[in-house]
Amino acid sequence: MTTPKALVAGNWKMNGVAANLAEIEKLNDLIAGGGANCDVLICPPFTLIHQSVQAAGERVEIGGQDCHANISGAHTGDVSAAMIKDQGCSYVIVGHSERRTDHGETDEMVSSKADAAQKEELVAIICVGETEAERDAGDALSVVTSQVRGSIPADATADNTVIAYEPVWAIGTGRTPTADDVAEVHAAIRNVLTERFGDAGNSVRILYGGSVKPENARELMSVANVNGALVGGASLKADSFYGIVQAYD
Ligand code: PGA
Repeated sequence: MTTPKALVAGNWKMNGVAANLAEIEKLNDLIAGGGANCDVLICPPFTLIHQSVQAAGERVEIGGQDCHANISGAHTGDVSAAMIKDQGCSYVIVGHSERRTDHGETDEMVSSKADAAQKEELVAIICVGETEAERDAGDALSVVTSQVRGSIPADATADNTVIAYEPVWAIGTGRTPTADDVAEVHAAIRNVLTERFGDAGNSVRILYGGSVKPENARELMSVANVNGALVGGASLKADSFYGIVQAYD
């Protein structure tokens, strides 16, 4: 069984102007100092992608936060996977809970976006996660596994797919599930992945996201089937993001 190389990904969301590029330069320097035995990715807003790609050193990759399901056309305000790829990105996040909530994205829409991304040779980071009400009702596993099944495109491969488990109630709240709860959900996702991809499903990275901080990263990253993190707030500053990256030292 292949243990995948971990991925620590930062999602800047709708934060960041040109001045924040200095954080990417600082991150280059911190990583060059050692203690980062993982892949490192920053997903800035679209407006900063070009400059971020210029600013990123060899060890930092840049990705998008969303893409349209079509490659081009009359879709005012949208950005396609081809455009993201053209700027030098290697990954794109799709189906983040904020997109599912703010833009009504369904599993079917997320799957179409992931398919567009993968056809452009981007790795799709497909986000899933239960709400607090769903967890309280005992439905976390069924909600998450159904989202994973519904959001992975038919043509996806183990190589171009990453899953990010982000409980909605843990995002930006400072609350995290227990290590046991994380282990339970990640094991259930792993089962769906091996059903889907066979043995190669073991090599798909499953990230945990939701209030990951330098203080809790080591514990969360040591849970079985956790192969990295998707980090919001703590990714905005190079020091705190590097503190999470160092869980893989
Ligand atoms: P957070 O966000 O780290 O600020 O909780 C995580 C995410 O939404 O990806």
